[in-house]
Amino acid sequence: LHSQALAAAAAAAPARLGDPLHSVETPSLTVDLDVFERNCLKLRSVMEGYPSVSIRPHAKAHKCPQLAQMQLRLLGPAAVGVCCQKVAEAEAMVSGGIQDVFISNEVVAPSKITRMVALAAQGAHVSVVVDALQPLEQLAATARQWGASIDVLVEINAGQDRCGVGTPEEAARLAEHISRLSSQQNGSVNFKGIQAYHGGLQHVRDPQQRAAAVQKVVDKAAAAVEAISSKAGLKCQLVTGGGSGTYRLEAASGVFNEVQPGSFAFGDADYARNLQLGGQLGEWQQSLWVLTQVMSVSAARACAVVDAGLKAVSLDSGPPVLLETPNVAAGLVAPPPGSSSSSSSSSSSSDNAGGQLPAVSFEGVEFQNGGDEHGKLLWPQAIPQLPPQLPSLGTKLLLQPGHCDPTVNMYDSIVAVREGTVVAVWPVAGRGPGL
Ligand code: PLP
Ligand code: MN
Repeated sequence: LHSQALAAAAAAAPARLGDPLHSVETPSLTVDLDVFERNCLKLRSVMEGYPSVSIRPHAKAHKCPQLAQMQLRLLGPAAVGVCCQKVAEAEAMVSGGIQDVFISNEVVAPSKITRMVALAAQGAHVSVVVDALQPLEQLAATARQWGASIDVLVEINAGQDRCGVGTPEEAARLAEHISRLSSQQNGSVNFKGIQAYHGGLQHVRDPQQRAAAVQKVVDKAAAAVEAISSKAGLKCQLVTGGGSGTYRLEAASGVFNEVQPGSFAFGDADYARNLQLGGQLGEWQQSLWVLTQVMSVSAARACAVVDAGLKAVSLDSGPPVLLETPNVAAGLVAPPPGSSSSSSSSSSSSDNAGGQLPAVSFEGVEFQNGGDEHGKLLWPQAIPQLPPQLPSLGTKLLLQPGHCDPTVNMYDSIVAVREGTVVAVWPVAGRGPGL
């Protein structure tokens, strides 16, 4: 019996197909596929306004080939493949059937260069950025050895002072070097173009300020393209960059012909704080949620402690957010009496307080770091004659992550849900720091 129990524990998955959301284990990562699809269709319809610009969704957000396949299908013919940030992500995508991977990041270790070339040797179309000679030469030698071809883009420093060459002249010299190393035979590097990406600009809140900042990136990209043409005699077939906050600006620039947004499909609390041109908040609907359970309640402190701590939600871009609408819609809680949604049904649930759904107030609730395994949900205590309605012990709640990418990276699998029912559980196959 003991070994049976151990085996059952070892096989424990966060959810089984057909499970309702309230019986999914916690903490777990869930994606509402209907919303995920809507975000993809939204990006597609915006990008249909820029027919000469291709879409390469960034797989760093989900690291999951099943979601990548779904994105490519929904984004339509403009979607040419995926971006990856690490060789391990690219390997996960190719294993999952994605045939075109662009590593939008420098790959330096010879061992990783070999693994990347091996993907191309298996038949995948592989491209990568460089900003220095030494890894480029290593890549060219490895490609020759394996008889595989890799497309290479020069990364320029778009202002983030992360990777990338600093001047148009350096970009031209590196492009020329790539082209010198290339050959007509199979087994070589081919100069393809440039990447100019500035992560910091994605979350500039004001759309005018964001546009002005992206214009500087566009100018830098244009200067590099010009220098590569005039000094090296080479044409940039591809000018790629732009994330979920700026992609329209790059797409409209006339300089870029590919965008690489990643977070758009999930959304997060940080992206929800971006203003759009019309003045509305947030371009993307939230499809990604962390499901957590109340593990301790203190009425005196107006606090519910949940089982999502630092190992379940990333706090680098602000805390996760507890929102009423998704929790009520998912049938996890009843709204507090008198709230706008309190007339909706309060069907029973087994996990959430055995029968009657707990009524919870959501106004002004804040998440506070409670350590590795704990999160504190704090209710405002300003109005003592109106005590907040705290969730009862065992209540499950959906949290909107502060930052989607590092949150996803904390989970082995992602529970896919439609209308509150589990429809799939997929491994976060490219998970990890990027070995
Ligand atoms: N491209 C590159 C090079 C990135 O590093 C990132 C994210 O950090 C993205 C695209 C996607 O950005 P986002 O997830 O904000 O859309
Ligand atoms: Mn991110």
